[in-house]
Amino acid sequence: MQSSRRQFILLAATLASSSVFVGKAQAATAVAESDPTAQALGYKADASQVDHAKFTKYQPGQACANCQLFQGKAGDATGPCPIFAGKEVSAKGWCSAYVKKA
Ligand code: SF4
Repeated sequence: MQSSRRQFILLAATLASSSVFVGKAQAATAVAESDPTAQALGYKADASQVDHAKFTKYQPGQACANCQLFQGKAGDATGPCPIFAGKEVSAKGWCSAYVKKA
């Protein structure tokens, strides 16, 4: 719990120092799994495709929709994530920056 909180604070600090807050008017494109950041974080648009051997942190049931960083509304199929500034992640996706929604 404490480490999740620390991770979230770290992420928040990182995000605050970069220009990731993109206006709503911009059309967001979906994050490609081939995107270098996506590859580094093991992002998959379908969490069931996560490389479990490489990303042992992944637990079944975890998905962008229940991640603290997901900025879509409940029920949205996709939504913005500050890790991937200006792009949208799948609500069913997952990456290793996952932080369980409080
Ligand atoms: S940080 Fe959370 S919402 Fe963003 S891609 Fe990773 S799991 Fe999904």
